[in-house]
Amino acid sequence: MIYFDNSATTVCLPKAAETARAYMLESYFNPAAAYAPAVQLERDISSARAVIAAELRAEPSELIFTSCGTESNNTAIFGSLKAMRGKGRVIVSAVEHPSVYEAAMELREAGYDVRFAPVDRTGKVILSELASLLTGDTRLVSVMHVNNESGAINDIDDIYALLRRNAPDCLLHVDGVQAFMKEAPVKCDMYSVSGHKLHAPKGIGALLIRKGVRVKPYLIGGGQESGMRSGTSNAPSIMAFSAAVSDYAEHRAEYREAMLAVKKRLFSNLSRIRDVRLNGPDMEHSAAHILNMSFMGVRGEVLLNALSEKGLCVSTGSACAAHKRGKNRILNAMGITGDRQDGAIRFSFSHFNTVEEADIAAQLIEEHVNLLRRFRRR
Ligand code: PLP
Repeated sequence: MIYFDNSATTVCLPKAAETARAYMLESYFNPAAAYAPAVQLERDISSARAVIAAELRAEPSELIFTSCGTESNNTAIFGSLKAMRGKGRVIVSAVEHPSVYEAAMELREAGYDVRFAPVDRTGKVILSELASLLTGDTRLVSVMHVNNESGAINDIDDIYALLRRNAPDCLLHVDGVQAFMKEAPVKCDMYSVSGHKLHAPKGIGALLIRKGVRVKPYLIGGGQESGMRSGTSNAPSIMAFSAAVSDYAEHRAEYREAMLAVKKRLFSNLSRIRDVRLNGPDMEHSAAHILNMSFMGVRGEVLLNALSEKGLCVSTGSACAAHKRGKNRILNAMGITGDRQDGAIRFSFSHFNTVEEADIAAQLIEEHVNLLRRFRRR
């Protein structure tokens, strides 16, 4: 099998899986308990928090663990607005993940003035358009760091500077799920991350909340995570997340190079097929792990299914309404419609992928694209 769907999820690193196992079978205590092994576990969790916070250039006290990126995004958006008085404007980019986009739609229902910041053809937020949407009563802006479909990287530091200049009371939340460890930390008020995108288990995430930023907790109860996220700590997954982050930090340059090599090789191989289009920025200006291309005259889902039968796992986009024809919200926002949208396939890589896999995959894709085009002409 060739797995090119690492934006959806990644394989768990053996070291992370072993760490989780040890914390399930050996150090399985409730870290809130008072006896010595539980106190030690609480210390281990503090170390894990410090490891992950350091990678975000944050204090450990600024990081709370959550169950996933979705929870981090929901907590940041609903929790920060709940802590403010009155309603106002909320701006999110037009290409956000459903965990931000659907939250924005719910805010609109609740009476907030929700606006969607447009993006360019690569999926990047247009700064001047965002600036023109900012008003004195804008409470929150939420923009993703790396777009999960096109690999576009937003200029978050510029967006932060814009907000500080033009709307000093407005908070900036960043969905960093596809960017964490892959791109440098950015300036913002809240930043969401998720473990399973970088070889930790599924079901663990974190939210950075900068000191002084008020957020009302989403889950209330036992007061864990400094009262910000009640529920017995998921110690095995927290420790595994920390193990995966440490590994990534140690090999960052090597991992980036490996992913970029696969991406460039696949792009160059696929560019030999006639009538293909790149959806997203060029190789040097996009995330190293995401490549989105359209095969004109071919239905993405049909190609995906054919490739799946041959053991090649790819995607036609994130889980949003991407399966309905012409209904890919992200590509629509990028101005990619019609045949080009129908034929779009997203490839996403990890450092476990190889250039040989890129060669095999390209060969398979070329064969199937040619076959499907021939059928279509009949
Ligand atoms: N944000 C982005 C950009 C994502 O790609 C994803 C997952 O696909 C999420 C948020 C949600 O993360 P999780 O699966 O941990 O809830």
